[in-house]
Amino acid sequence: MWIDSHCHLNHERFEGADPHKIADEAASDETDAMVSICCRISDEFPSLLNIAQGHDKIWCTIGTHPHSAGDEAERAITLEDLIEKANSDPNIVGIGESGLDYYYDFAPRDQQAEAFRKHIRACVETDLPLVIHARDADDDIAQILVEEGKGTSLKGVLHSFSSGRKLAETGLDLGFYVSFSGMVTFKNAQEIRDIAVDVPSDKILVETDAPFLAPTPHRGKMNTPAYVKHTGEFLAELRGVEAQEFAQQTTDNFFTLFSRAKR
Ligand SMILES: [Zn+2]
Repeated sequence: MWIDSHCHLNHERFEGADPHKIADEAASDETDAMVSICCRISDEFPSLLNIAQGHDKIWCTIGTHPHSAGDEAERAITLEDLIEKANSDPNIVGIGESGLDYYYDFAPRDQQAEAFRKHIRACVETDLPLVIHARDADDDIAQILVEEGKGTSLKGVLHSFSSGRKLAETGLDLGFYVSFSGMVTFKNAQEIRDIAVDVPSDKILVETDAPFLAPTPHRGKMNTPAYVKHTGEFLAELRGVEAQEFAQQTTDNFFTLFSRAKR
């Protein structure tokens, strides 16, 4: 059985499909549990928490995606607010996704950085793991992680890893996990595969990022947490281990990092 460490069950692309039903279907297809990731605290988080509270195989996070880091309502959420909300319910197992996205640049870069630092500080205060979104911003992500995180108890995961090797190494040096999505199965993703073979077995996670990035053989279709096994089996073969063993390892890794989640 696999754990999908990163999906978006409430995303509009699911066209109102019942998140609990998506989770149930995934559970009958080898995906034991999942974390539905928050992108907006001001308007998305309450309903997301509700989804997690109502299903024992779904956990959630709290955080502002870099795309929304410039929004007034998100900027109004202080570090203290974030800490208080993050500690308000045992179904909240992480903070994020937060980070920097210089590919889309939907929010001014200084505001993305400000939000990213706020999330990191909340993680240090709450001991919850940070879920990091990094796109075309390797150097700044690494710099902020080192500045804010070095010498602290900060832990986290570089999600849907698609950055360069240097950022993977910086993350691993800080004790971070690296998570791979269906992207690693894509034909043109040799660079990601080269990194995926080298991540230590106790630091690797799998995810779907559903509804995006459906893995081969479902590429181009809508992704669902049920497909995490395709990425997991692909990675197991790439790394030369049995799929069962890799499923167990990534599940153990998940519970080590997301320690508020109970088996
Ligand atoms: Zn995501």
